[in-house]
Amino acid sequence: MDVESGHRFTNGAVWKYHFRDSILVHCPKCNKQATVKGKISDEKEIECKNCYFKQVGRISLFKPIIDFYCYECGNKIYQELAYIKSKFEALKINCSKCKNELIAKPKFIEVEFIYKGTEIVDPYFGCSLWLQTKFKNDVLWAFNHEHLNYIKNYVTAKLRERQGNGYQTLAEVLPQFIKSSKNRIGILKAIEKLNTID
Ligand SMILES: [Zn+2]
Ligand SMILES: [Zn+2]
Repeated sequence: MDVESGHRFTNGAVWKYHFRDSILVHCPKCNKQATVKGKISDEKEIECKNCYFKQVGRISLFKPIIDFYCYECGNKIYQELAYIKSKFEALKINCSKCKNELIAKPKFIEVEFIYKGTEIVDPYFGCSLWLQTKFKNDVLWAFNHEHLNYIKNYVTAKLRERQGNGYQTLAEVLPQFIKSSKNRIGILKAIEKLNTID
């Protein structure tokens, strides 16, 4: 039987949502510490105090597609261009057959741009979490220091465990490697290491 003592862990909703209001990440521009802020249902904002990068909400990117027939020689012209940040009206291209200069009006495919962070990323912008470290075959991570402290309290409580104090716990939503009794000291060391990064 899984019993707790010394520290009360509330419910899964806390684990899943509460700590997401302020998430520490690597800035997508300078790689130093940035913060993703916003309530769970709101548009999120990322801000870096180091390089002053700021983005509100996700941004869209546009892929221009040129698809028409040359109005001089009838040659089919099809080109997919690289994603860009804003649409434009038209561009000049040369027909590959008759070499005439043509005005092309592209169509645009719009996509929401998500950063490609490594390992564990924030669920909104996709930036790498600041507080993460490899732990054996897993990654120990937290959204912020409050969250990290929460995990620390859990592990510490398990270490001080006494028989008979049964609490409703978050145990079912904690990753198994954090719950594992043989990892407790190692997890606490990893948390200390994460706490010293800034
Ligand atoms: Zn930055
Ligand atoms: Zn042509």
